[in-house]
Amino acid sequence: MTRPGAVVVVGESIAGLSAARELRARGYDGPLTMIGREPEGAYARPPLSKEVLRSAAAEAALAYPSADLDLHHVRSPAVALDTSARTVTTESGQVAPYDALLVATGATARRLAAPRQRGELVLRTLADARAIRERMDRAASVIVIGAGFLGMEVASAAAARGLDVTVVDTEPPLRRLLGPYLSDRLSAHAAARGVRVRQVARAVGLAGDPVHGVVLPAGDTLTADLVVTCAGDVPEVGWLSGTALAGPAGITIDERCSTSVPDVFAAGDVARLCPRGGGGGRAPFWSSAVAQGKVAAASMLGQDSPLRPTDDYFWTEVLGVSIKVAGPLPLTGAPSSVDGNVQVGDAILRWDRPGQRTTVVAFGRKVPVGRLRALAHASDPISKEKP
Ligand SMILES: Cc1cc2nc3c(=O)[nH]c(=O)nc-3n(C[C@H](O)[C@H](O)[C@H](O)COP(=O)(O)OP(=O)(O)OC[C@H]3O[C@@H](n4cnc5c(N)ncnc54)[C@H](O)[C@@H]3O)c2cc1C
Repeated sequence: MTRPGAVVVVGESIAGLSAARELRARGYDGPLTMIGREPEGAYARPPLSKEVLRSAAAEAALAYPSADLDLHHVRSPAVALDTSARTVTTESGQVAPYDALLVATGATARRLAAPRQRGELVLRTLADARAIRERMDRAASVIVIGAGFLGMEVASAAAARGLDVTVVDTEPPLRRLLGPYLSDRLSAHAAARGVRVRQVARAVGLAGDPVHGVVLPAGDTLTADLVVTCAGDVPEVGWLSGTALAGPAGITIDERCSTSVPDVFAAGDVARLCPRGGGGGRAPFWSSAVAQGKVAAASMLGQDSPLRPTDDYFWTEVLGVSIKVAGPLPLTGAPSSVDGNVQVGDAILRWDRPGQRTTVVAFGRKVPVGRLRALAHASDPISKEKP
């Protein structure tokens, strides 16, 4: 497209803000409207399940600055998109016309509660984190549903407070993402820290109204002072119903973050990358949201970006072990090489796969991100030592 007169971004978070910053960096000086629905504006989500669950003081460092970007902020949810008239309407009744639109509405937490069942806790927003932290202040025991990275981070925060913690999932910790080798290490680490991981045959339901436990597949109930559901996320596309963009799996984008609708782009957790050569899918991680925001900005201006619309750098922290990953996920099988000692949480592991990009994991060892990325790109194994 030619240089747009007016740009509208829906979703005031890392993907939307990365796009806004990139638009300005590329010289776009026209009107730039940012439509958000959270009172706090844009803030970092990754610390919510780490520092913010442990201390209210950590909230002070969350905000993403944007005062230098000359944005027109509208803090009211977008409720409708008219792709013929090229307008976005908000709940407050404002109508924002666009020449180029970025949808960056992220995702919401997947919920398990039955209709009208009250009191389910999930973790997606700062308000969610505050609610969980306040409940943890008064709790002695916690059940976390889901042993993915988010569930294990919540379990870690609870364990750090000395609470009795049970994690329930059909899979061992982080197995879907990090594969059996690291999952087994994390299971052992959890056991050593007194965190129970209960593997169940089928999905569990929530017990009580308000919720106070989980119903296990055999029919018995586990109870705790606090139950937190960490069962994945759902792309936030509800406000787009009636358009060609809406779909339960997210908004399909190509390598330029273009959608099927002219001059409408999407980025971040709401998007599902479907490159021409196949592969892709959703990459609901912080680094990909940044990359897609930047690529979308270039595309909105009719320019090329040197970046790929995914960035496979990911990090998490489980029970005191920091895990940084550069390279494609999920992992399968044993690593090709291990430098250090995984058992004590001080290792760099490498997965080399014929014909594919290498993945390098820093497991408990402090390695700068740039160095980890460089290791993932290097062709030599880190060490000849086999695990
Ligand atoms: C607790 C937590 C911890 C995480 N930790 C990590 C981590 O350690 N490492 C990692 O790589 N990733 C992590 N992630 C994932 C990472 O935060 C996300 O990938 C990233 O936030 C996605 O950015 P986004 O801008 O696409 O979407 P979001 O951050 O979800 O932002 C979307 C924004 O759009 C707003 N919105 C939605 N609908 C509307 C509407 N109709 N109108 C207006 N606004 C709307 C939402 O309120 C939200 O503010 C974590 C996520 C969570 C929730």
